[in-house]
Amino acid sequence: MMKRMHRKKLSLAVAQALSAGILVGLSAPSAYAQPAPPPAERIEKLTVTGSRLPVSPNLESTSPISIITPADIALEHPVSIENLINNMPQVFASQGNMLSNAATGTATIDLRGLGAARTLVLINGRRMVPGGTGANSAADLSTIPAAAIERIEVLKDGASAVYGSDAVAGVVNIITRKNFRQTDLNAFTGLSTRGDGTTYDFNVTTGAGGDRGNITFSAGYYNQQPVWAGDRSWAAIPRAFSAASDRADLLRRLSHERGFYIPSFYDPYYGPDGALAGYHVSGDAPLPVHKAALKTTEAVDPPVTSIFTPDTEFGARLLIEVVRGCANLCRFCWAGYNYLPVRPFPTERILELAEAARPFANRVGLVSIALCDHPDIERILARLKEMGYSISPASLRLDDLTEPIVRVLRESGERTITIAPETGSDRLRRVINKTVTNDEILDRAELIFASGIENLKLYYMLGLPTETDEDLVAIRDLTLQLRDIMMKHARAKGHVGRIGGSVNPLIPKPGTAYQWLAMTDAATIDQKSRRLRTLMADIDNVYFNIKSERHSYYQALLSLGDRRVAPVIVAAERNGQNWRAAVVEAGVDADRFLFRDRSRDPVLPWDIIDGGMKATFFRSELEKGFREEWTLPPKRAAENAKLLPVIQ
Ligand code: SF4
Repeated sequence: MMKRMHRKKLSLAVAQALSAGILVGLSAPSAYAQPAPPPAERIEKLTVTGSRLPVSPNLESTSPISIITPADIALEHPVSIENLINNMPQVFASQGNMLSNAATGTATIDLRGLGAARTLVLINGRRMVPGGTGANSAADLSTIPAAAIERIEVLKDGASAVYGSDAVAGVVNIITRKNFRQTDLNAFTGLSTRGDGTTYDFNVTTGAGGDRGNITFSAGYYNQQPVWAGDRSWAAIPRAFSAASDRADLLRRLSHERGFYIPSFYDPYYGPDGALAGYHVSGDAPLPVHKAALKTTEAVDPPVTSIFTPDTEFGARLLIEVVRGCANLCRFCWAGYNYLPVRPFPTERILELAEAARPFANRVGLVSIALCDHPDIERILARLKEMGYSISPASLRLDDLTEPIVRVLRESGERTITIAPETGSDRLRRVINKTVTNDEILDRAELIFASGIENLKLYYMLGLPTETDEDLVAIRDLTLQLRDIMMKHARAKGHVGRIGGSVNPLIPKPGTAYQWLAMTDAATIDQKSRRLRTLMADIDNVYFNIKSERHSYYQALLSLGDRRVAPVIVAAERNGQNWRAAVVEAGVDADRFLFRDRSRDPVLPWDIIDGGMKATFFRSELEKGFREEWTLPPKRAAENAKLLPVIQ
């Protein structure tokens, strides 16, 4: 074959020389028309006998060749050749040796999707014996130890004219190490992005030889724990779809999967007082239904804006979640209890996604209920600032607010920071388990205003358990002290910012320590609102927005209602969101859902879904609150996960 190729090259060279001569001959007449050339200088002949410059096979070959070099192999650390070659775009990934279902257990290569039997595999230029089982006549790559490979050349064009029909899709030539006179030891271990499929790979390659020959020995041990299709929660839907005989059977199957609640399988019944008493359950549907959640977000992409358009509320702002959950355990907070444990998203992915979105967004909104719980928050903020983003955090938890965080926010252009003291007195903060004191709030305010931030936004609540008039006065007093700090720093700069307050009535939320409490009645909330407005009136540079009970009424109805409230939602959708009319039309006694003590109810409507937190824990938290005791938050996710139920 080589001789024939040499002959071909030689005949090609002769043909080229002849055609050059013919061209010279053809151009000769015009040369005679030119003036006589000056006498030719003597030109010395230079003969190149060799070169150390590397020549790409693509320059020698008429067909395109891709090469996986030793450097690529070292970088990838493939556990099999199949893994390595499958990274190439022209390869149709088979991954057959990793699959148990409908696979042969062999590792094959399939160029351009024409079938593995149409890709010729060579080892050092020699045809590899097909290793497939049964009718599979493709070469099995798993018989070649990855550690013994020097490089891989892939001829991406069909070569059937040279090799035959098994090279229609192309040729893969695996070149093994030669003259190997050393010993290589490699050890590798890894996990899937879901924390399973643990893989171990150990191999040794050694070689010896001299002028007359060389011997290479390679051995390896490879073990990967199985990952079954059913180990992934998303497999539940296709599995149920493929097995179900009809719609009813599909719903029955899904009802046994974690995270699926099929309301039609649970027929509620009510006691004489109208309170929910229990459910008649169809068939073997589980009661309660268990929530599905990831234990960790270490290998999960954060939720992030993927469509940028000025036609939405946030316009061209990049919104990205940095950390899920909050370890503070405020007794009124649904998000705090229901997103436990605290799970940060991977720092590098957050930054990669932000980098990719930079051409479309100038501002980044960091969406997290406790942003500073991310262990890398300072680095994330610093990098976002370097990318040129203006950074807009959600409400910041005071206890983790540090000088570098505030400084980066200021330098990125942020002029307002939002914090949530919730109330004005340390006593009431112990009741609700907001574990910061007024001294700490003032201390952080000093930090905030000293950094150059001009405005402060404050969240407060009205109608908290045990709240008295003294607590309302304490809101005024705390705000005045915060204003003093703002004014001190404003004087030095000659520019005064503002303090804004947003005050909302407390809605006792399902799945919290307050789930049994009645909402404070409308008259009391209105009286407290009026009192607070009076207290906050006429304070320069302080602007409070105090919401009435009516403002929260329908939000509370949706929070605290059961399925008897569903007709209200339907009516509101029909009448253009007129909730008052919708309640009247549906004939629902909304007050009954809002202003009723539920502590004696045998079942609460939201108990049908087990979110992982126990009612006994909520009861003890409620009682601790009335005793004005804190449950100090474990500061970080690891401690938090040990103390609280972990949801799978
Ligand atoms: S600090 Fe409290 S209110 Fe804020 S997210 Fe955490 S638990 Fe909820």
